[in-house]
Amino acid sequence: MRVANTAYYGRTDPLGAEGDFITAPEISQMFGEMVGIWLSDMWLRQRPATCHYVELGPGRGTLAADALRTMKRFGWEPSVHFVENSPAMRAKQLQAVPDATFHDNLESLPTDAPLCVVANEFFDALPVRQMVSTKVGWRELVVVQDGGSGFAATPGACVTDDLVPEQFCAAAVGSIYEICPDASSMMDQLSDRLAKQGGVMLIIDYGYTQPALGRTLQAVQSHKYADPFRNPGQVDLTAHVDFSELSNCAKNCGLMLAGPSDQGAWLSGLGIDQRAQHLAASNPDRAADITAAHNRLVEPDAMGALFKILAVYAQGWPQPEGFGL
Ligand code: SAH
Repeated sequence: MRVANTAYYGRTDPLGAEGDFITAPEISQMFGEMVGIWLSDMWLRQRPATCHYVELGPGRGTLAADALRTMKRFGWEPSVHFVENSPAMRAKQLQAVPDATFHDNLESLPTDAPLCVVANEFFDALPVRQMVSTKVGWRELVVVQDGGSGFAATPGACVTDDLVPEQFCAAAVGSIYEICPDASSMMDQLSDRLAKQGGVMLIIDYGYTQPALGRTLQAVQSHKYADPFRNPGQVDLTAHVDFSELSNCAKNCGLMLAGPSDQGAWLSGLGIDQRAQHLAASNPDRAADITAAHNRLVEPDAMGALFKILAVYAQGWPQPEGFGL
């Protein structure tokens, strides 16, 4: 999955109507604006001398551009740091945010000031490992050639009982349990940084809020589901994000948490409904599109309930808005 996704994102920009999938910031500027308002509120109440904006996997840089424009209206112009490993995406991001500094990984992020980190649909792109319950215990599913032109997943030889939580040990044969070691390790590193340097992190993704069984690995191509084991590097591979695991990493470093909350409730709490009305009133020729985009972002049968928002923040930082706390 890592090799396939590195090839996939490295080759070309897969976002947009002509591409494979679309993300919230590409649906409407309102999404990045709400992120910018949320960050500005934290910054205004905390008032650190300096503070860096960090985004993980910024796509086309649209979210950052919309958020940074909004933050500037509150008098805040942070330095911008993008963690991005795709040359094709970096080129797009540079067009949207010309003064961004790029990082291959988290290690080189600045250590001198608090970090305000945003990750939208980033963690879902990191590689998962799948464990399957067999008659003789848990095994990892490993990728093999299927004899034709494709690949398939089959239980490997190694015993992996230790990787499955106690509560699922006796699950029915055929049950799948996924882990995402890269997500855990990145969350550990960032949480450690936030605990030491101060700051906040906003994670937006589709996922589950309690440990769960189930196969969530999926492939998408041209806005349709595809077979994850065909055409590696040509399709978008993702898996649902385990928010309970990310929360635990943050808690273990002594961070505070808000959420996960549904994206729709969080956006409405921050004022997206009023923003949509205002934008529609000032752009009557685009009013129908603005209303449709708003509905897509907040309605429970669109992205509003599937997508979750988790905020983690350093001790001593203010309690975040939008979580109904
Ligand atoms: N956040 C954007 C794009 C999401 S697509 C949006 O909401 O529109 C995932 C992004 O993460 C892409 O930019 C991809 O190149 C990047 N990415 C995926 N795996 C990565 C990794 N391991 N390290 C750095 N960037 C990664």
